[in-house]
Amino acid sequence: MLRAKRRIGFFGGTFDPFHCGHLEMARSAAEYLNLHSVSFVPAGQNPLKGNPPAATPKQRVEMIRRGIAHETKFSIWEGELERNGPSYTLDTIEHVERVYPNCHLFWIIGSDQLAHLSDWYGIEKLVYKVRFILLKRPGYALDWPGIKGLTLYPVDNPLMRVSATEVRRRLSKKVSLAGLVPLQVENFIKEHGLYT
Ligand code: ATP
Repeated sequence: MLRAKRRIGFFGGTFDPFHCGHLEMARSAAEYLNLHSVSFVPAGQNPLKGNPPAATPKQRVEMIRRGIAHETKFSIWEGELERNGPSYTLDTIEHVERVYPNCHLFWIIGSDQLAHLSDWYGIEKLVYKVRFILLKRPGYALDWPGIKGLTLYPVDNPLMRVSATEVRRRLSKKVSLAGLVPLQVENFIKEHGLYT
């Protein structure tokens, strides 16, 4: 009997820090698209973000690790942290394809990324290698980009009013995080005095 191809999701971001929005996005994407697994891909150097992350790569990985500790399907792909230069998704996926041949690959994004997708390095090639999973984000319209070959699966997820910027702002002003990050991540941030 033919075995169904594995469906593997990847979720790229800076995760500076990892927050509850990231966790809920991965859960919703996995459920809606029936994914076997989701790998979080912390960016080394995000080509579309101006400022470098405040936390070190090791700290960002550790925050993700703590945030997903109770999730059986989730893991971390550290490939972008091991490369020099900008972290291009196309390079990551070409590496992933060699590690996971014969799998359906998915890339998870929030709707804030729709306006930038056509600027992604090698997007014209990338669209034939991954299908995109789109999560709604408050304040960002669902304007479909006109990219030839793009497959986009919209998810009807609950809106999550959280961003890493807001988490960092609260920490720098010593305001309560009010459950915006998983407790284990909050403890790590406090133990290491991050974002103060
Ligand atoms: P920052 O505020 O530092 O820009 P962020 O909260 O957007 O960070 P990233 O680590 O850059 O977090 O997240 C990766 C991607 O996850 C984002 O580009 C965005 O598409 C998506 N994302 C993050 N938070 C949410 C959210 N609350 N709802 C929907 N999508 C989100």
